Amino acid sequence: MKRLPASWLEELELPPLWRRRPPPSPKVAEAEDDVATLDWAALKAAVARCTRCKLAEGRTQTVFGVGDEQADWLFVGEAPGAEEDLKGEPFVGAAGKLLDNMLAAIGLHRGEGVYIANVVKCRPPGNRKPEADEIAACAPYLDRQIALIAPRLIVALGKVAAVRLLGREVSIASLRGKLWEYRGRPLIVTYHPAYLLRNLPDKARAWEDLCFIREQMQRLLALPRPPS
Ligand code: URA
Ligand code: SF4
Repeated sequence: MKRLPASWLEELELPPLWRRRPPPSPKVAEAEDDVATLDWAALKAAVARCTRCKLAEGRTQTVFGVGDEQADWLFVGEAPGAEEDLKGEPFVGAAGKLLDNMLAAIGLHRGEGVYIANVVKCRPPGNRKPEADEIAACAPYLDRQIALIAPRLIVALGKVAAVRLLGREVSIASLRGKLWEYRGRPLIVTYHPAYLLRNLPDKARAWEDLCFIREQMQRLLALPRPPS
């Protein structure tokens, strides 16, 4: 797996979790072969016609991702919901409005230096959580998006994104407020906006996370941009 130069990471004082990240499952590694070299156009086309998992059966359309393809800041959610499935764009429902507000709080706007994607590109039936085999089947697409964007920072929204990108079973509580790493790129974990809509008391903690994100963004802007 390609890593960024150590000199770039040294500045960040990362916790050691990433060194214990297990290798990808054989299924992911195998599927990754043909996706890992695609350019944006080929990647979008591959996702649009994808039938690698059973979520293909229930979707109206795939939801690839949206935003600046050279974004400094990448936000990763879980899966499209009903409105996203109809519109073909991530985070356009109620959770999306809250995400837009969260972005605005740290001086960001959808499409301006920001990219928004999901762990899986097709809507799970009844908005259930994506299952392990679906997440594994879809993983090479998100991996390739991240490689092409080469963001300075990834923000994992909620547990599904955090577990997917860190490669191990972890709780949000244990991950908040620290800088982690996905393939050499800094990663911060916070609550999923849909969770915050259901758990208003945690909004104060989400605000702390946004302050942490803003602080780290300033730090990362002072470093050279990571290579893709
Ligand atoms: N929730 C997500 O995780 N992603 C979306 O695109 C919409 C809601
Ligand atoms: Fe393909 Fe991902 Fe959709 Fe499954 S969720 S069909 S792997 S694009």
